[in-house]
Amino acid sequence: LGGDTSGESVTTFYRYDKKKKLGEGAFAEVFKAQLVVPRKHGTAEDYAKVVNEDGTFRYNDLQKSSDMRQDVQYALKIIDRSKVEDMNDITREVAIMHVLSHPNIIQLYEVFYEPKTVTLVMELVSGGELFDRIVDKGSYSEKDAAGVVAQLCSALGYMHDKNIVHRDLKPENLLYALPAPDETLKLADFGLARTMAQGGQMMKTACGTPGYVAPEILANKGYDSPAVDMWSVGVILYIMLCGFPPFYEPELPALFDSILKARYDFPSPWWDEISDGAKNLVKGCLIVKPDKRLTAKQVLDNAWVQGEAPATILA
Ligand code: ADP
Ligand code: MG
Repeated sequence: LGGDTSGESVTTFYRYDKKKKLGEGAFAEVFKAQLVVPRKHGTAEDYAKVVNEDGTFRYNDLQKSSDMRQDVQYALKIIDRSKVEDMNDITREVAIMHVLSHPNIIQLYEVFYEPKTVTLVMELVSGGELFDRIVDKGSYSEKDAAGVVAQLCSALGYMHDKNIVHRDLKPENLLYALPAPDETLKLADFGLARTMAQGGQMMKTACGTPGYVAPEILANKGYDSPAVDMWSVGVILYIMLCGFPPFYEPELPALFDSILKARYDFPSPWWDEISDGAKNLVKGCLIVKPDKRLTAKQVLDNAWVQGEAPATILA
C-alpha cells in the first residue's frame, strides 16, 4: 500500500505494514500498522488523493502527515468498496475528518483510493472504548465522569464551531489513547457525521443508535443541529454515573415514546448519593426542545464539569 495508486505506473514510495486487526465494522476492517519505508518528496502525483465533499479531489498536501514517523504505529481503516452502496458516504467521512484536528478527535493523516478499497490512515489509539470501561467499572466517580464530559465537549465545541455534527455519539465511539485510567479520550467514527448547511437546516436522515438518539431525529422534524450531539452527551453522562441507560424499553415503539417525551428519572437507590450538580447537567442535556438544550461550550463552563464533582465512587 502506498505511492501512486492512479493506475499504469505504480511506484511505491512508502508502505504501511498491516499488523494486528483492531476492529471491524459493517464495511471496514481496522488494523494496526507500521510505516516501513520513509516517504520521499516527489511530485504532487506521488501523494494520495484527497476527495472533497463536492466530489472534486486534490492530492494530499502532507501538511498533517509531515510529522509521520517510522517508529510510530498507525491505524488503517480499510473500507471494502464492494460493500459500500454509496461512495459519497465514504468521501463525506474523509472530507469531514480531514478538516478536523483536535487533541480529543482521532486524527486522519492520509487516504488511499485504490480499485477495491479505500484506506484511511489514522492516529492509533490503544486504550480501548469508553464502553468497555463502563462495563468493567460498573459506574464512574463523578469526578471521572466530569473528566470524560469535559474532553468530549471540548471536541464537540470545536466541531460544532465548524458546523460539523457527529450524530453517532455513544461509548463505543469514544476511544482512550492509552490503557491508563485518566488517559485522553478521542472521538472516533465519523461515518454518520454531517456538515450543517448554512442557516442550520440539514437534510432529514434517520441515524444513530436508538438509546442515544435525540427526540427531534425520531420525530423527523427535518433538522438536526449540534444539539443532537448534546442529547447524546446527556445519555452518556447518565450511563457513566449509574451504569444503566436513561431510556430503556425492550420494544422500540415504547423506547421512542420515552425519548420523544424525555421520560426518564433518577431512580433510588442508584441516584441517591449523586450530586445535584451532576443531575442538573443531565437534565440540561436531556431537554426535548433542541434550542433549550445546553451547548458544548455551556457544558464546558459548567461548575460541576469544572471541578466541583466529588471524587467518591459509589458502591
Ligand atoms: P465503523 O464505521 O465500521 O463502525 P469504526 O471507525 O467505528 O468503524 O471502527 C471500528 C472499530 O475499530 C472501533 O470500534 C474501534 O474498536 C477500532 N478502531 C477504530 N479506529 C481506531 C483507531 N484509530 N485506533 C484503534 N482502534 C480503532
Ligand atoms: Mg463504529
